[in-house]
Amino acid sequence: MNRVLDTTTLWQTVLGEIELGVSQGNFATWFKNTRLLRIDGEVVVVGAPNVFIKQQLESKFNDIIVQSLENNGLNPVTVEYKILPASSLHRKVEDSPVILSGRSSSGSTGSTSEVSSSLTHSYRHGLNEKYTFENFIVGSGNELAYAACQAIAQNPAAKYNPLFLYGGVGIGKTHLIQAVGNALIENKKASRVVYVTTEQFVQEFLDAIRYKKNTDFAGYYRGADVLIIDDVQFIAGKEKTQEEFFHTFNALHQANKQIIVSSDARPKDIPTLTDRLRSRFEWGMAIDMQAPDFETRCVIIQSKAQQHGVNLSHDLVEHLAGSVQNNIRELEGVLNQLVAFCEMRQLEPTLEIALALLGSQKNRPRHLTAKQVVERTARYFSLSVEELVGPKRDKEIVVPRQIAMYIIRSELHLSFPKIARELGRKDHTTAIHSVEKIDKEQSYDPDVRAAISAIKEKLHV
Ligand code: ADP
Ligand code: MG
Repeated sequence: MNRVLDTTTLWQTVLGEIELGVSQGNFATWFKNTRLLRIDGEVVVVGAPNVFIKQQLESKFNDIIVQSLENNGLNPVTVEYKILPASSLHRKVEDSPVILSGRSSSGSTGSTSEVSSSLTHSYRHGLNEKYTFENFIVGSGNELAYAACQAIAQNPAAKYNPLFLYGGVGIGKTHLIQAVGNALIENKKASRVVYVTTEQFVQEFLDAIRYKKNTDFAGYYRGADVLIIDDVQFIAGKEKTQEEFFHTFNALHQANKQIIVSSDARPKDIPTLTDRLRSRFEWGMAIDMQAPDFETRCVIIQSKAQQHGVNLSHDLVEHLAGSVQNNIRELEGVLNQLVAFCEMRQLEPTLEIALALLGSQKNRPRHLTAKQVVERTARYFSLSVEELVGPKRDKEIVVPRQIAMYIIRSELHLSFPKIARELGRKDHTTAIHSVEKIDKEQSYDPDVRAAISAIKEKLHV
């Protein structure tokens, strides 16, 4: 969202929020003549009128500034403070677009060498590096999709354009299309690779209209070399966004840029997709992805177990592969649960332990609800549900709240606006930010991981 906000508007919003959190005197003294100078990747540069104010902002107010920037969609954020030149203090700064300046001027140039590195940097790929071809297991159900994605990674916009991947939840669509993006960047086949979820695209579009920055938005996406748009079914029914996407699509396609789209259904089965967008999706190659077969699931489990640094016996692998058939994310979840359970108790994972754990899986309520997740999370952290969904921003509450959002997302796959609502937040970017944050943290923070698996364990009893 920040892409389409200009710095002035963004900073005004941030200040508005800070104003609520500090005394009037403090606000007038320390914040009044500050500016947001620029955003360099993850570094936000804030200008202060003099050295004294600069020091105060650094030492006393950094946390609140960072928090408020995060609340407004900039994440993760490091803030640097600079002293504003005296001349600039009285001049009204012009709105400068955040991050995106200059992107559309070279919008149709293709090769890496033509793209200046600063411009490249300004493209926020949105890719998660953990999704690679190397750690994607190929088998029945995904081999065609894999081959098409490999071909695109070798030679974008040559053959399958657009590539439309569709299939059920948790079968590797996101993994595969992000792997293309990561490979393209790594092999320097394309630099301005943009991955975006449809939810994010829709929200940015709405923000662009609201802040009248539509050209920034359009320019950003039309300036990409490769556009990867995930879960396009969420565009259904949003006619204005569809129209915008239609134009983006045409512009990219005409400029011979690669477009990759994923969805939970084939174009003709997405309700309320405008005909012309549907026909665009049908131009290229549509590939159906299916849940991998038993053998492939076994290999996936072995490979994921190795990534955890544990060895599983053959019968255990087969048991796990048999227990979850249609959803690799769920399969991973089961494995993670088993590994975490054993790690905490310093046990070797065995079939017996898995049976005990998965036995309870079988009984898990069919319709797990977000409310249940919220309740369990609150209980785990000894908070009340009211506190968890309430307005307080203390760290002791914020982290559990973020964990609850993460679990709702990973277990129930609710949309971000819904997740935000379940936790009493108005702004869905809070949910996006929380889920991403916890996803990252759980990879290195054992406490977070333990909390998640303990809460999930309870959910499944
Ligand atoms: P989808 O987008 O189809 O809902 P994801 O791409 O998010 O599914 O996949 C869910 C999880 O399963 C991810 O963590 C992904 O890495 C993993 N996964 C899915 N398919 C494979 C596979 N063939 N090999 C390895 N991991 C896989
Ligand atoms: Mg996905």
